Amino acid sequence: MAHTKTKNDTLITRDRAHLIHPLHDDAFHQHGRVWIEGDGALLTDANGRQYIDGLAGLWNVTAGHGRHELAEAMHVQANSLAYCSGYSGSSNVPAITLAERLSEICYPAINHFFFTSGGGEATDSSIKMARSHWKLQGQPTKTTVISRLDGYHGVTFAAMSATGLSQYWPLFEPRMPGFVHIPSPNPYRYHAPDGVSQGIAAANELERVIQREGADTVAMFIAEPVQGAGGVIVPPDDYFPRIREICNQYDVLLVADEVITGFGRTGKLFALNHWNVEPDIVQFAKAITSGYFPFGGIGISDTLAETQRASNQPWMHAYTYSAHPVGCATALRTLQIVKDEDFSTQATSKGKSLLNLLTTALSGHPLVGDIRGKGLMCAVELVENKSTKQSFPARKTVGLQVQQKALERGLVSRVKGDSYLLAPPIVISDEQLEQTVEILSQAIGDVTSTL
Ligand code: PMP
Repeated sequence: MAHTKTKNDTLITRDRAHLIHPLHDDAFHQHGRVWIEGDGALLTDANGRQYIDGLAGLWNVTAGHGRHELAEAMHVQANSLAYCSGYSGSSNVPAITLAERLSEICYPAINHFFFTSGGGEATDSSIKMARSHWKLQGQPTKTTVISRLDGYHGVTFAAMSATGLSQYWPLFEPRMPGFVHIPSPNPYRYHAPDGVSQGIAAANELERVIQREGADTVAMFIAEPVQGAGGVIVPPDDYFPRIREICNQYDVLLVADEVITGFGRTGKLFALNHWNVEPDIVQFAKAITSGYFPFGGIGISDTLAETQRASNQPWMHAYTYSAHPVGCATALRTLQIVKDEDFSTQATSKGKSLLNLLTTALSGHPLVGDIRGKGLMCAVELVENKSTKQSFPARKTVGLQVQQKALERGLVSRVKGDSYLLAPPIVISDEQLEQTVEILSQAIGDVTSTL
């Protein structure tokens, strides 16, 4: 029977004629969906079919789709003042209020904020902040950025160089000089020497590299509290306290990239709170506007702010859209939702039930090697050999096949290798969580039965 062109097919044909996508991949995109509408944890495609949004867009739409109060906040602000410069000498009320609000809810020593249009710009801003801090402190050689393999910090040039997922590099190299990576503290895969815990051993990799490079050349260490795009990697509990100790000992700034983990996703408003650790710089984006407006930023400690203030010279870093009034108004309204609906508590309880459902459904499966998560971000990792933890060869594209089968069955998300990632909107219902696990289990069955 001839395939009749659906509305979605027609739109994809038009799309492919002129549109370049992030991670552009034309062959993959041929089977793409064009989204028309969203409601809570559901997305509707151009053919009118509904899907569960298993990754809340790109981890960002925590408040769910179709929130009229967010649309209203944007509408009201755009009607009164859609834009003004955020450069020194010019400000706006939502930006002032947002900085005040963040100062109340962020780590206690972090009380000064710079706003961007997203996460990659936040990474660049942290790097520039760290380097400028050391220059102003009379230590201009402290410039090196240490980050982790499987870390994702965005793909602007500096952010790409910090990102530790190597598939993002080859087409664009050479990377920026001055960036070094250490292994990820992945509990499923990290081998610690005898007698040392995984967390301490993985953290000590930072000390080893600082000593190798020379502490007088290292500006900062950047890490996601829970690695997101790298496969939802939750560090052992002793990892970040030891990292903080090392950073203190060698005068290296600790930058927490909370672009995914910020604003409740892991069960705390900011995720290093799980381990009573405070960073020197925090990065945020995504959930701060629940994805309704492109927005992000950094917060810096009082020590850094004081260095900047005392320097009496301009900080020559800027974006046209820094402190965008509509973005700030959207962020303020989102933060109200995060508080009113207690996203941290919701993420804790829904995350627990998601992890339980996944464990019940899949832990006995012969090819499911690891099921992990913290708060409402989880991953299921498929392996070729469960006892040796041997991964499938990449050419078998097991993860991508599961992603595709899940999509066909009504669940949208992304994979990292053969790990299927889940971070739905925090407003997802219990029934939708059950459906998510049911669909994923079926999709895994579809693929593994053919291997
Ligand atoms: N940092 C982290 C931890 C992220 O997850 C992302 C995006 N996935 C970024 C930075 C980059 O953000 P953006 O895509 O908004 O530049």
